[in-house]
Amino acid sequence: MLQDSSSNKKMIENEAVFRKQNEKVQKDFDKLKQIAKEDGQDNLAKEPETPLYFYCECSDENCRQRIQLDLAEHTKIHKNRRAFVVKPGHQVGNIERVVEERLDYNIVEKFTMPPESPGKLNPTAVNNSTI
Ligand SMILES: [Zn+2]
Repeated sequence: MLQDSSSNKKMIENEAVFRKQNEKVQKDFDKLKQIAKEDGQDNLAKEPETPLYFYCECSDENCRQRIQLDLAEHTKIHKNRRAFVVKPGHQVGNIERVVEERLDYNIVEKFTMPPESPGKLNPTAVNNSTI
């Protein structure tokens, strides 16, 4: 069922949408740090290890699970544009492979380059919401 390439494409697009959303979280946090700095709250502004809750970047358009990750780590992982963070078990074998397993999440790498400017979430046959 997941073999045809159009559904693979949809799944990859979904992950790109989630990543875009996560990058927005990251940007908002940068803004927050800037405000904190201007406000004299240097401890918050200087804290690169602050854990944030990012969306699971899997193919299931209904998945709203969060992954706790510090900002520096999130930035580092996404330097590779084919890399995504997903909850353990949320990877889909025919579009990506797990490159690293962590305690609370897996880092996966796409076989094909995801779109840089994804549109919207697509319905897919993947259902991770019960895992
Ligand atoms: Zn997920």
